[in-house]
Amino acid sequence: MSMHKARVIHVVSNDKPLSRETSRILKHKLENNGFYIVDDFDPKADLIICVGGDGSFLNTLHSYNFPEIPVIGVNTGHLGFFQELSPYQLDEFIFKYEKGDYIIQELQLLEAAVCTRTSCIEVMAVNEITIKGYLSRTIHLNISLNDSFLEKFSGDGILVATPSGSTAYNYSLGGSIIDPTLNLLQITPIAPINTTAYRSFTSSFIVPEDVVIKIHPEYSFENSVVIVADGTEHKYREIVEINLTMSKMRAKLLRLKNYDFWNKVKEKFL
Ligand code: NAP
Ligand code: MN
Repeated sequence: MSMHKARVIHVVSNDKPLSRETSRILKHKLENNGFYIVDDFDPKADLIICVGGDGSFLNTLHSYNFPEIPVIGVNTGHLGFFQELSPYQLDEFIFKYEKGDYIIQELQLLEAAVCTRTSCIEVMAVNEITIKGYLSRTIHLNISLNDSFLEKFSGDGILVATPSGSTAYNYSLGGSIIDPTLNLLQITPIAPINTTAYRSFTSSFIVPEDVVIKIHPEYSFENSVVIVADGTEHKYREIVEINLTMSKMRAKLLRLKNYDFWNKVKEKFL
């Protein structure tokens, strides 16, 4: 029998017992409905279903290098902001998926070119990229928007959030919640120093999606800054410039048709 298109599903799960059990039940249900399940990444898969929390969703996108395949999550984690389904909605999901009763939400991704004197490394993120001092030191960062100098920031660091990352670490730092249909980036200070010794902005600023945020670290004590992308830390030596931009790449998140961002915010935060 030939395999019909849109029937190959890659199921990923984290190691929690509830996730493993949910994933086992899900695979069983999908197979009973004639779907073909793959356990390893397959670029020809039609859908990736990720069982876990938001952290698992982020891991899935990072470990498969931001695939073009749509992803939907089943929430077995704590918060599940990206995770569209609850474990009790598996039948409903299969029913709606077969009918094409869903929407695809495109998530804008953030990209940083982290440059030393000789080369640049690209770092991608769904939620945010933070730039902090190594060993919890105060960091001094010259921030420019395109080629226009904005400020010398002093403090713990800065965070650059995408709209869909605005509800994560950004929100804990007092940043604004951004409707993900808006195309913009938010720069949020982390413990900015604002004294006669150092003058730093103390609130977030919001810039259009086509701006290049340029960071030039100023080294007083230690030659390293730390770059954290979606919670994963990267340490580089002798960074001279970091250029943050909105990526042309998008992640595709499958959502049920009744998905509403602000309802999700109310449901998860209030
Ligand atoms: P984690 O430490 O378990 O994440 C912290 C919390 O952030 C979890 O409850 C997670 O949801 C939630 N979260 C992730 N993305 C979100 C989003 N877009 N909107 C709302 N909440 C979101 O680590 P993780 O699960 O690997 O997630 C990595 C993220 O943690 C980072 O991207 C960063 O935004 C966030 N973080 C937050 C703080 C803070 O608020 N002080 C500090 C460090 C990192 P689940 O429970 O469903 O996993
Ligand atoms: Mn988590």
